[in-house]
Amino acid sequence: MNKIYSLKMRAAKELDGREKHVSGAERLVPESAVIPAAESLVNRALHHSNGTPDIINLKIELQDRSDILHLDALPVRTIKTHTSQEGQEKMCELLKEIGVPHAEEIVGMLLKIRGMRGAMLLDSCTLERLEKDPLRGVRVTYMDAAESAVRNSNPEKNHFSEALILATKVVHAPNIQAEICISDDTDYCTGYVASKELGYVRITKLKEQGSRVGGRIFIYDGDQADKEKTIDYLEKQSVLVHGVSLTPDKFPEEAHLPSRIEEIRDDLNKLKEKHLHRSMLSIEGTQGTHVKINENDVLMFSSNNYLDLANDARLKAATVEALEKYGVGAGGSRLISGNMQPHRDLESLVAKFKGTEAAITFATGYMANVGCIQALCGEGDVIFSDELNHASIIDGCRLSRAHIVVYKHCDMEDLENKIRKFSNARGMVVSDAVFSMDGDIAPLPELLEISKRYGLITLIDEAHATGVIGATGHGICEHFNLTVKPDILMGTFSKAVGSQGGFCCAGSDIIDYIKNRARSFIFSTAPSPAIAAASSEGISIIMSEPWRVKSLQKNMKLLCKIFAKHGVAANSDSAILPVILGEESKAMEMSLKLLQDGILVSAIRYPTVKRGSARLRIALMAAHTEDEIKRVVKSINKYI
Ligand SMILES: *Cc1c(COP(=O)(O)O)cnc(C)c1O
Repeated sequence: MNKIYSLKMRAAKELDGREKHVSGAERLVPESAVIPAAESLVNRALHHSNGTPDIINLKIELQDRSDILHLDALPVRTIKTHTSQEGQEKMCELLKEIGVPHAEEIVGMLLKIRGMRGAMLLDSCTLERLEKDPLRGVRVTYMDAAESAVRNSNPEKNHFSEALILATKVVHAPNIQAEICISDDTDYCTGYVASKELGYVRITKLKEQGSRVGGRIFIYDGDQADKEKTIDYLEKQSVLVHGVSLTPDKFPEEAHLPSRIEEIRDDLNKLKEKHLHRSMLSIEGTQGTHVKINENDVLMFSSNNYLDLANDARLKAATVEALEKYGVGAGGSRLISGNMQPHRDLESLVAKFKGTEAAITFATGYMANVGCIQALCGEGDVIFSDELNHASIIDGCRLSRAHIVVYKHCDMEDLENKIRKFSNARGMVVSDAVFSMDGDIAPLPELLEISKRYGLITLIDEAHATGVIGATGHGICEHFNLTVKPDILMGTFSKAVGSQGGFCCAGSDIIDYIKNRARSFIFSTAPSPAIAAASSEGISIIMSEPWRVKSLQKNMKLLCKIFAKHGVAANSDSAILPVILGEESKAMEMSLKLLQDGILVSAIRYPTVKRGSARLRIALMAAHTEDEIKRVVKSINKYI
């Protein structure tokens, strides 16, 4: 009779004098398959995504054949869920179906497990944990597919078949009512419920993509005095599982589901039906108050190039000069090898411009917000965020894993009420200075006063404030004549400055911290030195030619006055004036008609603004003439 051997592989790395687990796997195979199985296990150890191991342990033990338990694989079915909440509810329902008490609590416990290699053994009545070592949990070993060919043919880790083998063994343990599991892989959101009655039920979505939650719970139903028998079975009983398949795909519930590609096509069609589909205009030539589209001259009222610097001769000359002197690419991130003179010059200049100790620059304003917020806030912090804040702020908040509390737009009473609900909260208040789609200005004096009173730091996004508001374009602090400043003033070189890139200005400790923590700074190549030089030139011009900012501000007053003359109430202190139209289709239609008249005013719709608040967004430039401003108002009036 053929002998059966157990093979166990464990690979580890030495880290700070301690052994760190890299990977592990095991097989239970006939003598004839020991060598190929050993080879595939060692292969797996050597090529694991966790890194190359320093130590590989391979233990090969002869098994007592009479002691091997043969089981049929549990029948598999799949429940497709679309949200993690739906998945979790399904899991609870299944547990209740087989009479598990406290199903919600148990699933709640599963959703808290992180980084535990073994499983939790949980008394379903008392919710007590029964493992000897709660850090390690119970480790199930000595099991494999009986048809070892199934696994020999596939040296890669097969999550599905390994889970099915494990679940089949587990639910046959004495006093085990069920097993629940959620994948600890951040890329997989799946999990399953397994029991003798239910079989193996896959649930396709149980957690959010990227979540590090993951683990398994064995639900114990019996006298606690018998737990040794259960643990002994799980850890030592050899089990061969018959009829294990490699993929769950051939099960009928899944077979008829549309593929992801089909869903994508469906979604695209829906977007088109709802007038939410986006396409791009092609601008030929340079940016300015006039641009070329399809060879036609078009009057531009849609650009953030507020001071008309994007095509300024001096910015171009500074770029060319830096290009000759420093080349095109920076070749590495700032922290490694890409920190060049133009970057350093730009940072001291922008810090001086904003009146702070220090500054840090990023490749874009988007990256500045995402990196800075993620660097300064983390799990356990609370971020209070205006409901109309820019998407890059929202994404930074999400990436930080802090708790996010959204307050009503510019409503300081609502902000304070919400802060009060989190007594002693540590964290941040974050707001646009000028709101990008509404053009209004955050009530900064009150915002600073409240934040200070509750010990919260403040981040103000000056993307549309820099070079636009304040008597000389220095931004929101100048606008309100404030001497106290927010803790962090963020902004972009891509709008009024006419170049590209983002920045954060703050005290030198905060900047140093951001440099050490912001992932979008650390893990991205430094922007081109030529672009950094262009940004410096743009800032210098804003400082030396204050008439540009004056002219922009004068133009907005004029625009509002002309609208008023036509009976349309209009008011803005920034360079942005929204004309709210409501329906998405109406905004699109207006924008198209204006374009036919040779004027580019963009229509802004969901998801950039709330559904049903679609609008035209007029963006002014310092270089617009009175006649041009009259022309846009006249055209809009014609169609309104
Ligand atoms: C444009 C914008 C950003 C992003 O800046 P980019 O340099 O374009 O990436 C951030 N915040 C607000 C409010 C913006 O309008």
